[in-house]
Amino acid sequence: MSSESSQNEIILEGIAASPGVAHGPALVYLQKQLDVPCYDLQESAIETELERFDQAILETRAEITSIRDKIASTLGEGEARIFDAHLLVLEDSALLEEVTSELRNTKKNIEYCYDRVAERYMSFFKSMEDEYLKERVADIRDVSRRLLHNLTGTQKVSLRDLSGDCILVSEDISPSDAADMAREKLLAFATDAGGKTSHSVIMARSLGIPAVVGSHDATKRIKTGDQILIDGHDGVIVINPSQDRLYKYGKLATERKKRDEIIIKVIDQPSASKDGVPIALMANVEGAREMEHVNAMNADGVGLFRTEGIFLRHHGYPPESVQYDEYLAVAEAAGDNPVIVRTLDIGGDKTIDDDNVKDDSSFMGFRAIRFCLENLDIFKTQIRAILRASAKGNVKIMYPMISGVLELRKANEVLESVKQELRSEGIDFDENIEVGAMVEVPSAAMIIDIIAKEVDFLSIGTNDLIQYLMAVDRLNDRVAHLYQPAHPAVLRSLKSIIDGGREAGIPVSICGEIAGEPAFAALLLGMGASSLSMTANLLPEVKYFIRNINQSEAIALVEEVMALGDSDANAKALEAFRREKMGNLA
Ligand code: PEP
Ligand code: MG
Repeated sequence: MSSESSQNEIILEGIAASPGVAHGPALVYLQKQLDVPCYDLQESAIETELERFDQAILETRAEITSIRDKIASTLGEGEARIFDAHLLVLEDSALLEEVTSELRNTKKNIEYCYDRVAERYMSFFKSMEDEYLKERVADIRDVSRRLLHNLTGTQKVSLRDLSGDCILVSEDISPSDAADMAREKLLAFATDAGGKTSHSVIMARSLGIPAVVGSHDATKRIKTGDQILIDGHDGVIVINPSQDRLYKYGKLATERKKRDEIIIKVIDQPSASKDGVPIALMANVEGAREMEHVNAMNADGVGLFRTEGIFLRHHGYPPESVQYDEYLAVAEAAGDNPVIVRTLDIGGDKTIDDDNVKDDSSFMGFRAIRFCLENLDIFKTQIRAILRASAKGNVKIMYPMISGVLELRKANEVLESVKQELRSEGIDFDENIEVGAMVEVPSAAMIIDIIAKEVDFLSIGTNDLIQYLMAVDRLNDRVAHLYQPAHPAVLRSLKSIIDGGREAGIPVSICGEIAGEPAFAALLLGMGASSLSMTANLLPEVKYFIRNINQSEAIALVEEVMALGDSDANAKALEAFRREKMGNLA
């Protein structure tokens, strides 16, 4: 939806995905396929063509080196390593010789020859058994795209390498794009597609980057360089905002800042209701670099470590040593607090350069534990790294997407076999490491009594649970209005899972996005959840809210909404409760 107002302002409406307001120039990022030209050369043009090739290699080399240096100074040597691999691919003498002979033999233009040779290399590496060699496919693809852009003179916008502050406008942003973004330059983003719980939105929220998604046609209405304003609180994009509007937003920002200053004061207080009922408030993270902020927010540990972040940043399957370093760094930063490391949840919107995953990226497809149980080498490498980190920190392990007890047992068999390997190698790990299951597939929720008997803890992944219960793809903006966390079916499921955990004597946590919404947090406290895990930025407000209510009020809220029959009525009751309890900070 859009409307025109004064002074050529254009207002587009979307979904409020990540709070905050930003104003600045737009950068429209279209992920179009590169068109590789194909034409015949005269014999006399061959040498000039080879000179053009040399020139493009030099340019590409300079580009990669400059990005490498930039990443090394901002994110560290570890993150920069991938560009060393890119330089090796760019200068691989066998590949370059093959391109030259392709050119001499076919007398076709150099872009066409390079593309053909690169494709041959990629299919060769793809067919390899060795995981390390398979990973080279992503490097070749990245390098060949960069080189082809230089040869064809087309500009490739690199999200790692944004040249100035900007607001990214895109059809969609995949989690691997998000993992690549130069965050310090990114003021906000707006997408045509997407939902509130897409993984790039979750990343934006954890980085405090405002975002509006699902606006349908932002990329058609906005041009690179347009001044735009993103209001991530109300889901509004304003093209050419007037001075008047900017002034109003400035005032609002000052008020929000004052409110945040009051709320943040609670962070050193215990996580408990007004009458002292404790509920651990933990953080969802994707890597060690978030831990400083997590500790500043005084989180009671990490309730969900989404390990896919390491894989996405690595553009493939990171070796055990890289994973171990990251798990250990998070565990050490958490001190005595627990860190729940979730095993790889790749698939769905989180794809890496592996056709195995890419070709089946449906949320109901080859994802998470399903992928791990069929790729035991990848699964075992990860479990080894987690177990090794458990020797030095309070680490727990959790499996995503468990749909039944057989899957859980299979995963535990793999865990047991890795433990046995480590024992025989004399490598330390926590023999009593706790193992939990995410409850995010309705079939697991239905048999919670059976699942609960075989784990040490449960964690409800409401982002997925809601999409599967409601049959609403969490990325699809067309049906986003049907993604209803307050639907009676969702509330009943939550209650029955929490009851199931209590009956089995094990803790139940909630780590989906609703855990970071104050009224839902109160509701979950009333249902008896033992902990809530959320983006660290949301923790102060949830703590402020929880500390403002008595357990009896939370229980009364559960009774009230469980008696109502539809999601609108439930959502209204939750919002009324939030407003009442937040008072003038609502
Ligand atoms: C969830 O599904 O609620 C969850 C926390 O996992 P993810 O968002 O990573 O799928
Ligand atoms: Mg999930």
